[in-house]
Amino acid sequence: MNQERPHQALARRYRPRSFSEMVGQEAVVRTLRNALASGRIHPAYIFSGIRGVGKTTAARIFAKGLNCANGPTPDPCGACPACEEIARGACLDVLEIDGASHTHAEEARELMQAARYMPARDRYRIFIIDEVHMLSVQAFNALLKTLEEPPPHVVFILATTEPHKIPETIHSRAQHFVFRRVPPPRVARYLQEICREAGVEAEPEALEIVARGGEGSVRDSLTLLDRLLAYADGPLTERETSEALGVVGQEDLLGLLESLMGGDARAAASFVDRMRERGQNLDRFLGDMDETLRTAMRWKLGSDAPTAPQRLKALSSGASLEDLLRLTDLIASTRQRLKGAADPEALVELQLVKAAHLPNILPLDAILGALAGQAPPSRPPSGNGERAKVPQKEMEEAEEAEEVEGLRFRALIPFKRMDEGEAASLESDGRFSAFKEAAGLKVPLAASAIQAADVSLDPDGVLHVALPDGALTAAALLGSPESREVLERSARELGFPGRVVVEVREPDLQAAPKEPEGPKGTPLAEKVIRRLGGQVVGVRPVTPPVPVGGEDAEPE
Ligand SMILES: [Zn+2]
Repeated sequence: MNQERPHQALARRYRPRSFSEMVGQEAVVRTLRNALASGRIHPAYIFSGIRGVGKTTAARIFAKGLNCANGPTPDPCGACPACEEIARGACLDVLEIDGASHTHAEEARELMQAARYMPARDRYRIFIIDEVHMLSVQAFNALLKTLEEPPPHVVFILATTEPHKIPETIHSRAQHFVFRRVPPPRVARYLQEICREAGVEAEPEALEIVARGGEGSVRDSLTLLDRLLAYADGPLTERETSEALGVVGQEDLLGLLESLMGGDARAAASFVDRMRERGQNLDRFLGDMDETLRTAMRWKLGSDAPTAPQRLKALSSGASLEDLLRLTDLIASTRQRLKGAADPEALVELQLVKAAHLPNILPLDAILGALAGQAPPSRPPSGNGERAKVPQKEMEEAEEAEEVEGLRFRALIPFKRMDEGEAASLESDGRFSAFKEAAGLKVPLAASAIQAADVSLDPDGVLHVALPDGALTAAALLGSPESREVLERSARELGFPGRVVVEVREPDLQAAPKEPEGPKGTPLAEKVIRRLGGQVVGVRPVTPPVPVGGEDAEPE
């Protein structure tokens, strides 16, 4: 901040002076403007909403609209004595009263007597009562008496954070406006405008963090920004902001989600350690996580999620909707339990480790480990309990069914490919070969399998590495979280978005006569799914087509 410039709180400096300057209360503003334009004025209005969303600001602008020398008008001039005095809080006909300090019966009576008098100069006598729910019973009774036979020149604007504490008799005589929390992206845009106007440099990501910290309150967001600017040396950066507010940065959050989706429980534990070292706020972290997951889900469902970063889109396209739902549920319930927790950090760590075991998309090494007879990856049973009970004989059959590996992976991993023309045009600039080269050097034991792999980039920016069928050792090597990190780093270095999915190509059923026929493949895939507790995330037609087998298709 420039030391020469006298500092005035942003919240006060940028208080909206007209309806058009108000942020994020479009519905309320429209109705108030209509009332002023049509001249149909109620004797009382209730403005309710959380603190700092513009209730008293709107009340003052409404008062200006009512009493402006050029009014009543939805666009008060701002220059006449009425407008000017209301802005300064010095107008005889507009009384601003703090409900909390007017709780005595005597004061209330005086107040209501004041309502009997005609306005000193302007059209209306306007009472703006802030925190009206704090009024005493006697004060409410006096107010009610006035509202039962309202003098035509009186308007009450009752602002409150707790509308349910206003007696029903008053509710029924007033028009109620609900001021919404302002969505953080909207607040962030507003903060950007203000910074530009005030000549303050701030990274957009920093302002997004501030806006989320304000939890829908414009004033709280501005106050937060003020505090940060007082300490900032030069432009306000995302790093500084997340550190100062004890917030986990967006990139770290996405990194954690990727680890959880990949089943990496160790990453979850070390993440909590890092949060502890940095003194980061657990509740805020879970809130941000929840919001990020909901954005991912919205994107997955194909609805509008314009704020989703590319990395999040890649993540949600690699996960199934069920994964996202379960993870969101888990995070939401953790947040609820946080307040009563004896050891909040331990709770969060435990829940994150649990989350790492949720995904349906198991890492390849876990699948292979389970097939090789090691302990199956622990995960909560999905669906009904019936499916989890697999007769021993069937389990053995599933383990012996080595000849159809391709089908297993196809059933368990969502598989996406671009059409050949698209892939060829991307291949032509040599980046796929460069990626194979780099990946082979990083994981030498899998180098030959990588060289033989089909690499493709799907429309979501996910790089698919389809290993030749039978390359199970390479698949296991590349399926570990460490390897994936190495692969993703290589991908990013070459300019890809960064998410890498390793798959095993389906065996060519027609070319290999020893392979089982298509119809036999499906019950086997079913058994693998039962054995591992997964579920079919999508069925895509292949050649030859593989019909979906039901219970009666089981060889019993
Ligand atoms: Zn005016």
